[in-house]
Amino acid sequence: MSRDIPYKIYLEENEMPKQWYNVRADMKKKPAPLLNPATGKPMTAEELEPVFCEELVQQELDDTTPYIDIPQEIQDFYKMYRPAPLVRAYCLEKKLDTPAKIYYKFEGNNTSGSHKLNSAIAQAYYAKKQGLKGVTTETGAGQWGTALSMACAYLDLDCKVYMVKVSYEQKPFRREVMRTYGASVTPSPSTTTEVGKKILEAHPGTTGSLGCAISEAVEVATTNEGYRYVLGSVLNQVLLHQSIIGLETKTAMDKYGIKPDMIIGCAGGGSNLGGLISPFMGEQLRGEADYQFIAVEPASCPSFTRGRYMYDFCDTGMICPLAKMYTLGSGFIPSANHAGGLRFHGMSSTLSELYDQGLMEARAVEQTEVFAAAEQFARIEGILPAPESSHAIKVAIDEALKCKETGEEKTILFGLTGTGYFDMVAYQRFNDGEMSDYIPTDEELAAGFAGIPKIPGIQ
Ligand SMILES: *Cc1c(COP(=O)(O)O)cnc(C)c1O
Repeated sequence: MSRDIPYKIYLEENEMPKQWYNVRADMKKKPAPLLNPATGKPMTAEELEPVFCEELVQQELDDTTPYIDIPQEIQDFYKMYRPAPLVRAYCLEKKLDTPAKIYYKFEGNNTSGSHKLNSAIAQAYYAKKQGLKGVTTETGAGQWGTALSMACAYLDLDCKVYMVKVSYEQKPFRREVMRTYGASVTPSPSTTTEVGKKILEAHPGTTGSLGCAISEAVEVATTNEGYRYVLGSVLNQVLLHQSIIGLETKTAMDKYGIKPDMIIGCAGGGSNLGGLISPFMGEQLRGEADYQFIAVEPASCPSFTRGRYMYDFCDTGMICPLAKMYTLGSGFIPSANHAGGLRFHGMSSTLSELYDQGLMEARAVEQTEVFAAAEQFARIEGILPAPESSHAIKVAIDEALKCKETGEEKTILFGLTGTGYFDMVAYQRFNDGEMSDYIPTDEELAAGFAGIPKIPGIQ
């Protein structure tokens, strides 16, 4: 096997991106705007500013500027844990005996264990710049809460995290990491907010969902002076910050003349996938190249593959703006599967629009096959992957095995979003043969769809 491409391609510090790339600028048909649920009209900057930091609102609404400067302080922070390596999975290729060439971009090299720190530092930076006291947020599996706690600690901002109850209980160490970085952590739904109390009345004993936790965090941000809400995925601004993943990958690949045939990523709210594919999708949108893009989601929370493309609330409490996206309905609470970061009912409106235009495919996979792929990967490549990331691994391995059958030498790139050290309860279930696959029935999905709002003149 030729070894002219190294196992790991690192960029030099001076090759790191100095600007984020905004893929919306190259989309002819733009993602649908956020709507004000009270008026049915697009949200204005003034309406968004009580909830989000001013500069982030500008980024959210900007669908024309292709490149946005990364402030120097954020570039400097990135240098502590970036560039992230682009790894050629020679060992996996050999083990699979495939002619495919497999690459993965590894985002797990920081304490938060995932790509989420890329946006956390940006959002915390703009909050600090605006002179705020602190930020509130939700966290599912805990990676986002950890990343935000780290960023807030660095910038001396207060950080209040609402953590989905099932994760809070399953992952006590994750919670303790956040507290170590100075954040306060509350299991959601909780009785500390009005919306939390309402949700608990309607669904006693619920294990929570990202949608519930978002409602609580937004309520706390909007009722406390000097606080704003920040979100770890879904929003356009988060995809923008995460474009650092794709930009680094593209620079590294260009250096060695590598062109991927397919780009695969797991999709919860769409931020890592959106970030990874952005510069490649930009080329595709401008007619300069042709790639196959594949989003991978859990069969238990199948927003793309079984959801509706409609305006919906991002949160269970229905207090956030409406986003047009592939959704299962904001009242949909997925079964307690182990990929906490993929349990959101909706999807980034940018990715939803790209998917709707047929520019991207989606696949739903079941969790036992995902964990089998995770273990296969861990035993060969050494990295213990996060359950979320393992969705992408599963499809990358499937595709490499297809190449083995057809003899095609495809170049496969996937996003390895993080490590799974805090997911050992899930691995334990799998190792003990106690993990099951839950796929929602059409009736269960119908109940979620029934909660999608009717908006006069729109849907
Ligand atoms: C949060 C998370 C995801 C899913 O979120 P996206 O916004 O869809 O990227 C995937 N992998 C890891 C490790 C995560 O922490």
